[in-house]
Amino acid sequence: MDERGFEQVRSRLGGVSRRDFLKFCTVMAASMGLPLELAPKIAEAITSPKRPPVIWLSAQECTGCVETLLRANHPTLETLILDLISLDYSETLSVGAGHQAEEFRAKSIAENQGNFILVVDGSIPTKDGGVYCKVAGKTVLDILNETAPKAAAVIAMGSCASWGGIPSAAPNPTGAKPVHEILAGKNIAVVNIPGCPPNPYNLLSTVLYYVTFKKLPTLDDKMRPVFAYGRLIHENCERRPHFDAGRFAKEFGDEGHRQGYCLYMLGCKGPETFNNCPTLGFGDIGPGTWPVGCGHPCFGCSEQGVGFTEPLHSPARPIYVTPPTFFAKTEKDEGEGATVLAAAVAGVAIGAGVAALGMGANKKNQD
Ligand code: SF4
Ligand code: SF4
Repeated sequence: MDERGFEQVRSRLGGVSRRDFLKFCTVMAASMGLPLELAPKIAEAITSPKRPPVIWLSAQECTGCVETLLRANHPTLETLILDLISLDYSETLSVGAGHQAEEFRAKSIAENQGNFILVVDGSIPTKDGGVYCKVAGKTVLDILNETAPKAAAVIAMGSCASWGGIPSAAPNPTGAKPVHEILAGKNIAVVNIPGCPPNPYNLLSTVLYYVTFKKLPTLDDKMRPVFAYGRLIHENCERRPHFDAGRFAKEFGDEGHRQGYCLYMLGCKGPETFNNCPTLGFGDIGPGTWPVGCGHPCFGCSEQGVGFTEPLHSPARPIYVTPPTFFAKTEKDEGEGATVLAAAVAGVAIGAGVAALGMGANKKNQD
């Protein structure tokens, strides 16, 4: 990174020091699982005067995925959006509106054909020709089908875009589908960044990876970046020592809950969910700032179907239900000591099994 490049980025980033900027690049390299020696290469890509163009389409969504972007701080997402990338179109964040915004979207797509990143949040309604979600008189289904083939890559942001999410829950009145299903068979690169909401740094890292290396990061068998979704929540959870020792909260607000014990008995899906929430946190306000850290069980938002639509495993698994069923049976029949031991053994087995499956899938994608 030469001095001129840094000075340009400094003015864009609001006077950030060179040291802090390089630190940021090092953190980003680490979060992507890259050797730290690659931090200068990331810095070089960021300081390029040509910012990567991004078109952001919103389909059937609650705006939580956009809202989560506004909660990041390193750099602030305003900085990311306005200075590191060129956000040429977003229904929520664009300054322009109406015809002006639509014209700018068309212009950016024409000028950056094959080079822009298309981000989509929300699921795509397909029933009745997709009439249940329209922007500027056009269905989002048509807009996606027209825009995606011209993009360098498509990022499905959040669980609705990745899996269908809440809008696709039975009886799925709008025929909601995830982005990758709409684009299947069209030879278009799609990355899923699931979560409800997803962590904004996983989007930031994916975009930076693409900008730096001109290719997408390694994906797992569900098209998720391995650097973000390669580990189970359970592997890095700060409550894990309680799990291993058989100390569980049994009800919200009970003594175990107040003591910070494991939330497995309250329905925690951490042993089956791949995501980096425990290591990344949310909101940049210190350690423990993630759902489990704050006392709520993980409900597996980054896994397909858990809690929202289809069960991950049979029988059905609503958010606060704690299978396996033998867990409750053991407690009733044999007392608390046997219960916690059985739970720990079962949970470890589940975690190990799912981890082995996930690692296998990840390995397959890397080969
Ligand atoms: S079951 Fe949930 S709360 Fe308990 S250690 Fe695993 S991830 Fe943490
Ligand atoms: S802790 Fe679980 S439910 Fe919460 S955001 Fe992370 S993966 Fe999703």
